This record gives sequence, C-alpha cells and structure tokens, in this order.
Amino acid sequence: MRYSVWSLIRQGLVGNRGWPEAWRDAAPKDRYDVIVIGGGGHGLATAYYLAALHGITKVAVLEKGWIGGGNTGRNTTIVRSNYLLPGNEPFYEHSLRLWEGLSAELDFNVMFSQRGVLNLCHSDAQRDAFARRGNAMLMMGADAELLDREAVRAMVPGLDFANARFPITGGLLQRRAGTARHDAVVWGYARAASALGVDIVQNCEVTGMVRDGDRISAVETTRGTIRVDKVGLAVAGNSSRLAAMAGLRLPIESHVLQAFVSEGLKPWLDTVVTFGAGHFYVSQSDKGGLVFGGDIDGYNSYAQRGNLPTVEHVAAGAVALFPALGRVRILRSWGGLVDMTMDGSPIIDRLPLANLYLNGGWCYGGFKATPASGWCFAYTLARDEPHELNAAYRLDRFATGHLIDERGAGPQPGWH
Ligand SMILES: Cc1cc2nc3c(=O)[nH]c(=O)nc-3n(C[C@H](O)[C@H](O)[C@H](O)COP(=O)(O)OP(=O)(O)OC[C@H]3O[C@@H](n4cnc5c(N)ncnc54)[C@H](O)[C@@H]3O)c2cc1C
Repeated sequence: MRYSVWSLIRQGLVGNRGWPEAWRDAAPKDRYDVIVIGGGGHGLATAYYLAALHGITKVAVLEKGWIGGGNTGRNTTIVRSNYLLPGNEPFYEHSLRLWEGLSAELDFNVMFSQRGVLNLCHSDAQRDAFARRGNAMLMMGADAELLDREAVRAMVPGLDFANARFPITGGLLQRRAGTARHDAVVWGYARAASALGVDIVQNCEVTGMVRDGDRISAVETTRGTIRVDKVGLAVAGNSSRLAAMAGLRLPIESHVLQAFVSEGLKPWLDTVVTFGAGHFYVSQSDKGGLVFGGDIDGYNSYAQRGNLPTVEHVAAGAVALFPALGRVRILRSWGGLVDMTMDGSPIIDRLPLANLYLNGGWCYGGFKATPASGWCFAYTLARDEPHELNAAYRLDRFATGHLIDERGAGPQPGWH
C-alpha cells in the first residue's frame, strides 16, 4: 500500500483495520545470493539498494534482536555533511542529498528536519580552521556559512557569551543539516526492501561462519545454517566479533557512547549546536526533550550501558555552554556500542576473503551516513569493487598509511 492522504482517509473510514504490515517478518530460507548481517539502518539500506538499484533480491537481512535495536535506535540523530577532507566530504554530501529525498523515495516519513547544525568556535585559530573547512565544503558542492559572534547570538541567545574560559567567537553553520527520526529510517528502509522481496529475519543471531578455503559458504545462526554467495557485515560495535568468526582481526575497537534526553521543555532550541571547546552536541526533539551527548566512555566494552563519570563530563559541557540548563533534569540515558577505527573514518570494503564484505568503523557518526553507506555498500557487494565515493574507505589504508584523519587527532579511538 502506498502511504498517502487518500490511504489515511480510506483507513479512517474503516476504523483503521485495513493497514497491512509494514514489512514481512520472514523465516530464513536455505540459501541467499547475499546475506547482510545486522538489521540497523546500514544493513537495511544496503538490502534496499541491492534490490532497488542492482536487481539483487535474493537477499536476507539477519538481525539478532529487533531491527533498529542497535545504534540506529540509540543515537542523537545529527545529520550533516560538514567535512574537510576529499575522502569524506563527497560521500557525506551524497548522503545528505539522499536524505533530502528519502521520505519521498521510501514513501515513509523519516522526519528529516533541516534545522541546521552550528559548530561553535572559541578562538581566532579555530575560526580560521572553520573558514578553511567551510571553503572546502563549498568547493565540494555543500553549503556552509561562517557566522560572527553577533549572528550566533541572534540565532541561539541562550549560549553563555560572557564565559571567559570558552568565549564564543563565531560558528560554522550548515543550514541543510539537521536531524531525522532514528527508527523511522529503519522502518522506512525495511518496508521498502521487503516490498522488493528482501527477507528481514529478526531474532536470528549469527553465531558462526562456515569457511570453504578463502570463501564463506554458509552462516550459522540461532535459526539454522544458511548457505550464501556473498556476506556483508553491518553490525557496528560487533564488527570485530563477526570478523573473528571468519578468522579475521580488524583495526576496530568497540566503545560505549551514551546519549541523554532531558525532561520536556517549551520550544527553546531550533537548531543543532556543538561545542567547539569540548565534546558536547545538543538538539531539541519534537516532543520538547533536549537530546544530547558527548565523548565515548573511553574503555573497550560490548555492554550497551555507560558510566557516571561520562554523564558528569557531558553535563559539565552542557552547563558551560548553556548555564540555564543547570536546573534541567535528565530524564533518560542509554549507551550504544560504537565501532571506533584508528583514524576515526569508516571502512566500506571487501575483507581479505573472496566473498566477505565490511561496512563498519562508523565511530561517532554513522547515522548521517546511513543512506550513502547502504548505497555504496550495495554497489561494492554487487560489483565487487568500490564506488568512487567509498574508494577511500579501504581496509588496507591502515597498512599503506593512507589514513583519513578528519580531526587530525592521531591513531587513538579516544581522540576522535
Ligand atoms: C549514543 C550514540 C549517539 C550517536 N549519535 C550520532 C549522531 O548524532 N549522528 C550520527 O551520524 N551518528 C551517531 N551515532 C552513530 C550511529 O548511531 C551509528 O554509526 C549508526 O547508527 C550505525 O548503524 P548500523 O546500522 O551500522 O548499526 P546498528 O544500528 O547498531 O545495527 C547493527 C545491528 O547488528 C545487529 N547484530 C550484531 N551482532 C549480530 C549478530 N551476531 N547476528 C545478527 N545481528 C547482529 C545488532 O543487534 C544491531 O541491530 C551515535 C551512536 C550512539 C551509540
């Protein structure tokens, strides 16, 4: 069924009893052309583009829990393409353009809200660096505006402009950036992929891989063994675990990243703000809660929960920027499992086996990448070669030294 105002009216007249299920809850078959492991946004987007753009429909997405229960359903949903480096910017700009048409393409409202992302700068040197980044963005076809202090004040009056330690000297604004609804993205891709014949198999954990020489011939799951031609990993913080099942070790560490939601407030912040002198980012949800986060917890973990010192650190960042938040209560917090690479950039590539592919290493920022990541991963899976947009996201860059160190922070996950 196409979702439209007419279907709403029709269903309203029959007591909303005629809505079909959004996607088929499929049972696993014996064999697939492609198995994508991980039913987050990236896995489902990959399956959708495999079917929609490459005509490969004998595809299964295997998810150990429920779709969207991983990082996609746990993130702070900031979508932007404000990158500096040529390996990154065209990819993220492609993603932003896909976001702009996504609700129409999927016939599902992903609630993409282009409310802008404002990166604050706190020194002349940082403003110079932002000017350079903004110019690079403009040259690569994205939008960027450098704001002075008064323009920032007009846009976000609640900031602490009298803070002597972190004076705000201006900001880099990307107006086309913003936020989207996390689970709607998952449901939209799932519905569209399922309509094209993709099997979405929930409660199906991959527990092993059957190797036949340099190939994976089947995956073992809690719902039986499934034979396969090609396997794509899109399991975020579990990438190293899945690669280990194939006998491989990845340059990825898993860390906890927490997110927070405050009690509901009246409309107060109509853009996304990031702190340039610390690690803190905040937006206001449609329900009124402030959605915010900061640094990773800084130790390796596969547990989807974090610790109090990081809560305190993030709260300190919030109050340093917006003193009025000192009296706001945090309502909820949770943790996700982020797959941190050693240069802070992702990997979309074939692994050193004939038919095993990796989409991972998204660190703090893979939600915004969801459409382009699925698009490029589907291309790579279908054609056995990277698209030029993901050509820089090779695994062997860690051996050859062609790192994409966007933040210039060095080879430590904690520094990105
Ligand atoms: C707190 C937090 C805030 C974030 N904020 C932002 C942000 O503001 N903007 C942004 O761009 N990015 C953000 N990110 C990063 C972003 O959420 C992720 O990069 C992105 O969602 C990854 O999507 P995914 O589909 O790869 O992973 P996931 O959504 O995690 O999906 C992977 C799936 O694989 C499944 N899986 C794992 N092991 C197995 C197995 N053995 N068998 C079967 N299935 C398995 C998991 O259950 C999971 O559902 C944030 C992340 C966190 C944790």
